[in-house]
Amino acid sequence: MKIPKAVQNVIESFEKLPGIGPKSAQRLTFYLLHVPQAQLDNFADAFASLKKGTKLCSICMSIDETDPCLICADSARDQSIICVVEQPLDVLALEKNGKYKGVYHVLHGRIDPLNNLGPDEIYVSQLLIRIKQGGITEVILATNPTMDGEATAMYISKQLKNISSLLRITRIGRGLPVGADLEYADEITLQRAMEGRSEV
Ligand code: ZN
Repeated sequence: MKIPKAVQNVIESFEKLPGIGPKSAQRLTFYLLHVPQAQLDNFADAFASLKKGTKLCSICMSIDETDPCLICADSARDQSIICVVEQPLDVLALEKNGKYKGVYHVLHGRIDPLNNLGPDEIYVSQLLIRIKQGGITEVILATNPTMDGEATAMYISKQLKNISSLLRITRIGRGLPVGADLEYADEITLQRAMEGRSEV
């Protein structure tokens, strides 16, 4: 039996997603064949408007419905402290307990030499421009406590020190399990890691 082209297309689309192998892609696709057409249409509409309905904040590179994002536009936030994270989901994780009052910078990745991801593939230069514009007193490096996350934090701190010797550069970490993902850390652990940040 030959798999119909329409089915094969969906399987191949699923396979491109992170964490989905060929078997899962097949299972999901054949499951969808049993779903009513109206529900499938809603699904397709949601996908189609995913990018159209969101904006990349031109200041912090986070994702929101507006540019600048609600956090950057909030005058009650301390605009002199920037917390650097890998992904927009990390912003959500840190915002959950509402204790952090500074702003963010989202890299959209990390330096990962094995996968040919260098500093130019993530939003580092945009961060450096923000620092050069002045008014920033502290940069908190909150990349994941993984090998790539540490390498990324080290690279950025070096660049920042070249720009300003007065800038306070800190790294979160205490209490975060090595190799962990920030977005999966619980609120208390995240808060402790924030409070226990140390100079780099
Ligand atoms: Zn923003």
